[in-house]
Amino acid sequence: MTKRELIDAEVLIHGGGMVGLTLGVALAGAGVETVVLDKADPAGLLTAEHDGRVSAITHGSQQLLNAIGLWDPMAPHGEPILDIRVTDGNSPLFLHFDHRAIGDAAFGHIVENRHTRQALHAVAARTERLHLIAPCGLRELSRGAARVEAELDDGRRIRARLSVAADGRHSALRQAAGIPVTTWRYNQTGIVCTVAHERPHLGVAQERFLPAGPFAILPMTGNRSSLVWTERADLAPAIMALDEAGFAEEMGLRFGDYLGRLKVDGGRWSFPLGLSHATRYADTRLVLVGDAAHAIHPISGQGLNLGLRDVAALAEVLVDARRLGLDMGSRDILDRYERWRRFDTAMLLAVTDGLNRLFSNDIAPIKLVRDLGLAAVEQIPPLKRLFMRHAMGVIGDLPRLARGEPL
Ligand SMILES: Cc1cc2nc3c(=O)[nH]c(=O)nc-3n(C[C@H](O)[C@H](O)[C@H](O)COP(=O)(O)OP(=O)(O)OC[C@H]3O[C@@H](n4cnc5c(N)ncnc54)[C@H](O)[C@@H]3O)c2cc1C
Repeated sequence: MTKRELIDAEVLIHGGGMVGLTLGVALAGAGVETVVLDKADPAGLLTAEHDGRVSAITHGSQQLLNAIGLWDPMAPHGEPILDIRVTDGNSPLFLHFDHRAIGDAAFGHIVENRHTRQALHAVAARTERLHLIAPCGLRELSRGAARVEAELDDGRRIRARLSVAADGRHSALRQAAGIPVTTWRYNQTGIVCTVAHERPHLGVAQERFLPAGPFAILPMTGNRSSLVWTERADLAPAIMALDEAGFAEEMGLRFGDYLGRLKVDGGRWSFPLGLSHATRYADTRLVLVGDAAHAIHPISGQGLNLGLRDVAALAEVLVDARRLGLDMGSRDILDRYERWRRFDTAMLLAVTDGLNRLFSNDIAPIKLVRDLGLAAVEQIPPLKRLFMRHAMGVIGDLPRLARGEPL
């Protein structure tokens, strides 16, 4: 594509993160002429230094990724989650979920975000009808009754039926459209690092509720685990600034010695934690997906999975409309997507927010009630199985891709 060129597309996606680029691959794979625009340089996004996080890819998300050819390159980097163990501080009561209680499939897989991004970029590069333009900023976007027109920083112009905001939690497109968000900050920071350990984790994910917030130990390939350590926002900077020995000591106090000797493997990252939810997911020829629509607490490891369910639903609605010869960017099509996704998202937002508030404190009566709750759930197998199906992302009105079917 040369500069000053006019590119005619059907869908223009702003943001080539894990959600935006997955949507691009899904749509282009179904024959939709798609452009993905990202202001960041992909070369930087693909390095270990950019993002040390992992994502717990649920069984439902895995089905979607498999259906559009993304799971094969990711699979060698994925570690199955076979068991989940939930504990409350030093209470002897705990909850134990074993995947075998509901079938053969693992709850999901832990995959490093950089491997997911690498797989996405490799598949995107060989997908016909998908054009990734990055790094490049947007100079102007006009959304008219019949189409959208974008002018890029390098002078190129793009015309499309629909623009998609997949530009993350602080979405510039959402703000420009004047779509309000319900938002609040938790007084918490997520500290993330990889830990190499002496003994194998046996595919067990641990979620420990400590007074400052959840402390998750997630099984990675090899004798490695990813730590998502929620800490009080006022203490986190001091912890992040500790030298290697000091950080290892603080971490070890919370991690315990059940996996033998520990060593931090690579860098540390920290993320301010907050919740945001757009009051609408659609506007004139604009639709929101992923963190641009909703960002949640990482307590349940579901933020990306929620975004991937947006991808599956939006791709289905758009492709079905196109097959019927309808205008993919029309408001009734976008409203259909919004109705489909809003309930699932609102439920998960409420549950993650409630769990975080319930568990991130050391108030004795609350601790007693939640420990009794843990013990009760442990004793009720049908309730446990329901929780497990939720954790696998296989509940609700699932789009075709999330059921592993083609679009
Ligand atoms: C500590 C932590 C742990 C987490 N763990 C999990 C987990 O285990 N499982 C899970 O499912 N989720 C998890 N999440 C949530 C998950 O990481 C996010 O939900 C997910 O990354 C959102 O992806 P996205 O593509 O919507 O947004 P982003 O990843 O924010 O991507 C946005 C993209 O848009 C680009 N962009 C930004 N502005 C513009 C613009 N104006 N124009 C063009 N491009 C733009 C950016 O460069 C970027 O590439 C976690 C989150 C945190 C903070």
